[in-house]
Amino acid sequence: MKVVEKIDDMRRLRQQLTEPVGLVPTMGYLHAGHLALVRQARAENSSVVVSIFVNPTQFSLQEDYEKYPRDHVLDLAILEKEKTDIVFMPSVAEIYPEPFNSWVEIGKVTERLEGAARPGHFRGVTTVVAKLFNIVQPTRAYFGQKDAQQAIVIKKMVADLNMNLEIVAVPTVREPDGLAMSSRNAYLNPQERQAALVLYQALSLAQQLWSQGEKDAKRMRQKMVALIQKQPLADIDYVSIADTETLEELDVVNPPALVSLAVNIGKTRLIDNIVLE
Ligand code: AMP
Repeated sequence: MKVVEKIDDMRRLRQQLTEPVGLVPTMGYLHAGHLALVRQARAENSSVVVSIFVNPTQFSLQEDYEKYPRDHVLDLAILEKEKTDIVFMPSVAEIYPEPFNSWVEIGKVTERLEGAARPGHFRGVTTVVAKLFNIVQPTRAYFGQKDAQQAIVIKKMVADLNMNLEIVAVPTVREPDGLAMSSRNAYLNPQERQAALVLYQALSLAQQLWSQGEKDAKRMRQKMVALIQKQPLADIDYVSIADTETLEELDVVNPPALVSLAVNIGKTRLIDNIVLE
């Protein structure tokens, strides 16, 4: 496994990789969710590149860029075991040399949900992902369904800008009790960790209502909200039932529908989703 920090080195080593090449972009502090992406990339490609870069432009000033968890030693040990060919871990100066002044902005689908709650977030995501695609030139890139809107936005970027690669969405990996794996779970104290289950409980309720024939999206949202509000440590940011392509809110649950939510548990903002089919 080669570990490179410079774009020139990444490009040079890329020339020597056997096609097809799978890329897994991450911010590090790897867990089983990331590993599902790496394993699928390993299974579907001859070569695997994993990037580790905590991207400052996707965090707002109030957010947790500085204290975002990092453990490069452990990350590299994990990736070595998974037979990763190249780990690309550039510095911020390498990716954003001054004066950096170009941005990739995708329209409508970035305005809702996470985009509405975190202004500028997706501009940071799409800019860094476009740069990674240009640098690594992968055949396929792997993204988690855990960040459903992100996967939708990246697919839209690739389609609209004619980027020459395939985007693969990988199902969400959960803890045994249902909590979606996330690097941010590390912020939760034991009491909050227990309270965080409310996200999965609300999604399970939506799934159950759907199975019972509920089609009224407003009623479904209200029941989810009521369930979450019973948890004193939880503070709802949004609960959404939306079209899986446009992300427009639905009145009637029409499959496939994306049920997604963002909830603050103490100071930690968690997101999760399921698709009703
Ligand atoms: P991050 O390091 O949080 O930026 O995540 C890197 C990639 O891993 C993104 O495509 C995420 O959607 C994906 N990912 C994170 N958590 C999970 C999970 N629990 N299951 C599946 N994919 C995940």
